[in-house]
Amino acid sequence: MEPWQQQLSQSAVKIKDLPFIPESPEYRERLKKVGELYPIRINSYFLSLIKGPDDPLWKQVVPTLEELDDYIDGDTLVADPLNEEVDMPVPELVHRYPDRVLLMINNQCPIVCRFCTRKRKIGFPGVVTRETLRQGIEYIRNHPEIRDVIMSGGDPLLVPDKELDRILGELRSIPHLEIIRIGTRVPGTLPARITENLCSILKKYHPLYFNMHFNHPAEITPEVEKACAMLADIGIPLGSQTVLLKGVNDDSQVMKELMLKLLKNRVKPYYIYQADMTEGTDHFRTSVQKGLDIIKDLMGHTSGMAVPYFVIDAPGGGGKVRLLPNSVVEHNKDEVVITNYEGKVFRYSQPERKNGTSSQNGKSKNQDMCQLPS
Ligand SMILES: *Cc1c(COP(=O)(O)O)cnc(C)c1O
Repeated sequence: MEPWQQQLSQSAVKIKDLPFIPESPEYRERLKKVGELYPIRINSYFLSLIKGPDDPLWKQVVPTLEELDDYIDGDTLVADPLNEEVDMPVPELVHRYPDRVLLMINNQCPIVCRFCTRKRKIGFPGVVTRETLRQGIEYIRNHPEIRDVIMSGGDPLLVPDKELDRILGELRSIPHLEIIRIGTRVPGTLPARITENLCSILKKYHPLYFNMHFNHPAEITPEVEKACAMLADIGIPLGSQTVLLKGVNDDSQVMKELMLKLLKNRVKPYYIYQADMTEGTDHFRTSVQKGLDIIKDLMGHTSGMAVPYFVIDAPGGGGKVRLLPNSVVEHNKDEVVITNYEGKVFRYSQPERKNGTSSQNGKSKNQDMCQLPS
């Protein structure tokens, strides 16, 4: 494998570099507009995996004119759907939950995903600076309630080894910071970046967790498997996050294959995200029911370990909300009636019933205990 820096410098970044796009000069001219609005990057490793225009990998990284249409639809779609810029006490640090923060340490990625929730800033020069980073670390140091930091971006692993070592060292010197997480798409899209030298740095900063990003089983190549093994071998608990994307992975069989392939590589599926309402990405969105159906098709049918949480990141900055397919038929003081993965119905008696307390007035009292299926 070529060194990762070379794979990155040989990225497709212009319309003429893109594979499998129509020859029509008019189309290419309009596509140029898309590229001006939202940067393009496909590193040479990822580019080599793309088989054709219907390829799930192609769809994730090659711009299309639909991005312009989605841009015009300014009613429901916005540049910052999660209101991240509002929840930033200092630049590039999002403090939304009580005890943990998201720290953006750069804004470059090994590939630029067309569905990116931070489409407003990813791939543009000069968003994160040494000074914003200093302020972010300072903020964490001054807030003892923060016990968990998620390094994000952009992709933290595109930062050179020496700089990453310095940032991790500074974070680790903060006594109240219990865990450090790295949010990255690097292991799955630029596996050559996972070098022995990087591993020797990372392993100094335990407890260190990885939240990786995988959307399709075709991303898990032998190179990616090796990168995951190197990370697992230095004791990093590996997790994966997936975005539910129309035409890429909105299919139970594809999702199941992805989740099982991750587990085989010691990666625990953590979240499936409903696609955010981000400007320029509308054509990737599916119904919420699609996500629920996928979870239903996984739960019970395969290892529980393979079933991630399905979440909507609440528009406007409400944070992640977990959704589950409904399995409760009835829930009252006497009993809970539930369905299993085969659709069979079971009754669980509440302890009150066994103890001989009243069974007549139970129902009316506990109507709000659990949501009933519609
Ligand atoms: C997702 C997210 C986190 C981490 O959430 P967990 O559920 O703990 O993984 C923290 N901060 C922000 C702003 C997030 O979007």
